[in-house]
Amino acid sequence: DSDYQTVRLAVLGAPGVGKSSIVRQFVMQQFMEEYVPTEQRQIFCPAVIINEHLYEVRIIDCPYIPYFPVNSLYEWTDFRGYGLRNATAYVLVYDITSEESFEYIKTLRLQILESRNRHDVPIFVVGNKHDLAEERGVPRREISNLVKKQWKCGYIECSAKYNWHIMLLFKELMKTVDYIDYGH
Ligand code: GDP
Ligand code: MG
Repeated sequence: DSDYQTVRLAVLGAPGVGKSSIVRQFVMQQFMEEYVPTEQRQIFCPAVIINEHLYEVRIIDCPYIPYFPVNSLYEWTDFRGYGLRNATAYVLVYDITSEESFEYIKTLRLQILESRNRHDVPIFVVGNKHDLAEERGVPRREISNLVKKQWKCGYIECSAKYNWHIMLLFKELMKTVDYIDYGH
């Protein structure tokens, strides 16, 4: 038995919602105002201690994946091509000022459920850019009702810009994947 467990997190969401910024804050404690679109899938493997357990967290920061009809052959290939089909958990990020970015998450969720062909894949929803909460697109209650009560997924709001709730986000995330037997 090893001293640590590897957790594979796939970070997905519409372009510009702050996926790379969240990962950058978590891994490097840095933030960039400038928007540099992620062209290619990036993988970060920080070793972290969360909830007193040591994990290697393989974070897959994904470029934009366009929507294809659920169950299409193309979509399957797409998921496999990005190495997403074997993720331990999916982190679906939206920008709380953008209703459209939340709509995209709904689509992604369906793609994930269909592609994995099971309904117990941990999915964690993240509302980023909380510092812009005055420009919120959809009421928080509406979102959290849908996500927590209907989807039965974890939900957290954060700000990558101010490093607010970023650590908490990963802590909560690890609780979500905690049902897996880590041998501790
Ligand atoms: P990605 O395409 O989802 O990876 O988005 P990026 O991480 O590249 O961020 C897109 C833009 O949003 C950049 O200009 C970031 O500086 C900005 N951004 C990211 N997170 C936040 C946040 O929490 N608050 C604000 N105000 N801007 C953010
Ligand atoms: Mg990016």
